Amino acid sequence: MSDQPFYAEGTPLGVLTTQPLGGVLDYRAPEGGAWSGAFVEVPLGPRRVLGVVWGPGESGLPLEKLRMVNRVLDAAPMTDAMRAFLIRVSEYTLTPLPAMLRLATRAPGLGDGPAMRKVLQIGGAEPARMTDARLRVMDAMASYGGAAVTPGELAQAAGVSNAVIGGLVKSGALVEHDTPRDTPYPYLNPALPGPELSGDQAAAAASLRAAVASGTYGTTLLKGVTGSGKTEVYLDAVAECLARGRQALVLLPEIALTAEFLARVEARFGARPAEWHSGVTMTERRRCWRMVGQGDAQFVVGARSALFLPYQNLGLIVVDEEHDTSYKQEDGVLYNARDMAVLRANLCGAQVVLASATPSLESWVNARAGKYTRLDLTARFGPQELPQMRTIDLRSEVLPSNRWISPSLVTAVTQTLARGEQALLFLNRRGYAPVTVCRACGQQVGCDDCDARMVEHRFQKRLMCHQCGATKPMPVVCPSCGVADKMAAVGPGVERLAEEAVALFPEARLAVLSSDLFGSARALKAQIESIAQGGADIIIGTQLVAKGHNFPHLTLVGVIDSDLGLQGSDLRAAERTFQLIRQVAGRAGRAEKPGVALLQTAQPDHPVIRAILAGDDEAFWQAEAAEREAAQVPPFGRMAGIILSGPDLDAVFAHGTALARADAPLRRIGAQLYGPAPAPVARIRGRHRVRLLVKAPRTVALQSALAAWVAQIKPPTNLRLAIDIDPQSF
Ligand code: ADP
Ligand code: ZN
Repeated sequence: MSDQPFYAEGTPLGVLTTQPLGGVLDYRAPEGGAWSGAFVEVPLGPRRVLGVVWGPGESGLPLEKLRMVNRVLDAAPMTDAMRAFLIRVSEYTLTPLPAMLRLATRAPGLGDGPAMRKVLQIGGAEPARMTDARLRVMDAMASYGGAAVTPGELAQAAGVSNAVIGGLVKSGALVEHDTPRDTPYPYLNPALPGPELSGDQAAAAASLRAAVASGTYGTTLLKGVTGSGKTEVYLDAVAECLARGRQALVLLPEIALTAEFLARVEARFGARPAEWHSGVTMTERRRCWRMVGQGDAQFVVGARSALFLPYQNLGLIVVDEEHDTSYKQEDGVLYNARDMAVLRANLCGAQVVLASATPSLESWVNARAGKYTRLDLTARFGPQELPQMRTIDLRSEVLPSNRWISPSLVTAVTQTLARGEQALLFLNRRGYAPVTVCRACGQQVGCDDCDARMVEHRFQKRLMCHQCGATKPMPVVCPSCGVADKMAAVGPGVERLAEEAVALFPEARLAVLSSDLFGSARALKAQIESIAQGGADIIIGTQLVAKGHNFPHLTLVGVIDSDLGLQGSDLRAAERTFQLIRQVAGRAGRAEKPGVALLQTAQPDHPVIRAILAGDDEAFWQAEAAEREAAQVPPFGRMAGIILSGPDLDAVFAHGTALARADAPLRRIGAQLYGPAPAPVARIRGRHRVRLLVKAPRTVALQSALAAWVAQIKPPTNLRLAIDIDPQSF
């Protein structure tokens, strides 16, 4: 750290705080001084808040006006690369720096106490006097079987006050020592042998190892069908990274996938890596954050926010299932973890591996342009072929009303079950029925607060809004016309499909996989394991099943509604549908048995359906890329969505119109403005939403123009403005 500026005691320094209105504020350096990058606690009004020493004091205020930093926290200082990363993400997403710092310090108890803490163990001496309370403590202590326990925890376990514990320490019945507060992670051994790699795999792994060994930035698109061994290949790159003493990060799109992945890492490296996602405990998060910061966590597996951990020496970032839409989320700081991984790696001389069977168009285009290296795994590992794909034409096999499984699909399922194999019926719709309508007046039941229909969830016996999560009981009387007993379910969700399957295949054991049916990640994991071991004959699932699970007995995939994603004007609809159907079809035939995928569709000649059947991914991407290029939309042009929301529709629209009139800063960079128009969901949680879309050439400084543009007109206080760079739908 010696090349960092140091601020001697009493000198002014600037501290970036996590407080929205704080920003960078001047303080006096505390006793002992502070290095630039140090995490500190500072007074702000009546509170003490977290901050980081950002630079010299620049306010010009006289020293005696400045408050003193309370203390320097016992945490590794922020690196220059991390600082640069926060600044760049802030500029890219137009997010204020304090919010970026909050994202980077989401570890509870970060500043709590020193790295050491007091723990107790049983001492040799007998206390002079044994009371009931003291006995309870000694009993509780014995139940820890010799493990060290903190005084607070022990007092709680025994139901006594801290004074009782103190007395036992004084008498020598318990002894205190200092131990590190955060248990170090076990050592991962990169020298353990991995599996023997096939020709394709070995070539890809060699290329990635060389890239990691170079110690410089680079991005590789690792494309390979499900089951081709991408994970084995990138774990080999992780081994190279660890062997060089650098830290590795693997991002997964879905927490439900972590358990299986951790077990694989343990088998490969002899120990489990650090874990970072919303499901880990507060204590674990603190441990992870601090160990990563000290360079003592070699390998982190986590959700997108793991990108913002304070790595000391990051050498490799893997983004698994890189096309997955969950890498971009619609709330909080709007960033795409795939793009930010590339930026992070660029700033610290690390390698990125983007792994997918169906890459995003962005990554495919970057590989074509030579910005990314491309590595392909063309065969599945082992002898298995990809599943055969066929359509079932719903124009000739007309389905009776309230039936969604065609006769051809019924036959295929029956044959599959007769062979003792599993079938998957895929429908990307949660709940029982997407629409509830009154047969007397024709009105659909909508959410009170959102512009969305209420979806029936029969297992929970309620209607639910998929925008805001609000629920209400299934009405007996129509809320619009008051007629009783006329409410009807329209259209299928997975629950209703399950009902049909039970009627068609009464002997079969059914499992329904839908995110809302599982209270916990553990329950979901248990269900997935049970299915993998043959605990179900028919699996009915939403897109949850498309994500990387391994079901060795599954040989038939039936896609109930292949056309579902193709409607609408969204330019990404084709890409999404292609990816989803390819992914889900890839679930069939992973082990020794060949697989078949049957796509029910009323548009068998649709270019997307034809591309899927032909298995010609390159042709599909070529065509998609050509279309986007012609329209000058991402990745060939730049886009931003501006969502205005507020309780009063007229006020929201008026602000949108005012912004649209004041578009000079946008015209100056050659950008086009569309809207204001109702947002794709026009009302959420009682707030009306209006959207403006900005389309700009690729080379312009879009962010600064946007910032200048929206800053021209002050919005009313109850109006929120969110800027979404590279929106998911356009
Ligand atoms: P992907 O990540 O492309 O879906 P995986 O890496 O999960 O593929 O590989 C699919 C299956 O094949 C896994 O069970 C994996 O352990 C196995 N596998 C892949 N490559 C090898 C290999 N070289 N030797 C042994 N097993 C392998
Ligand atoms: Zn709602």
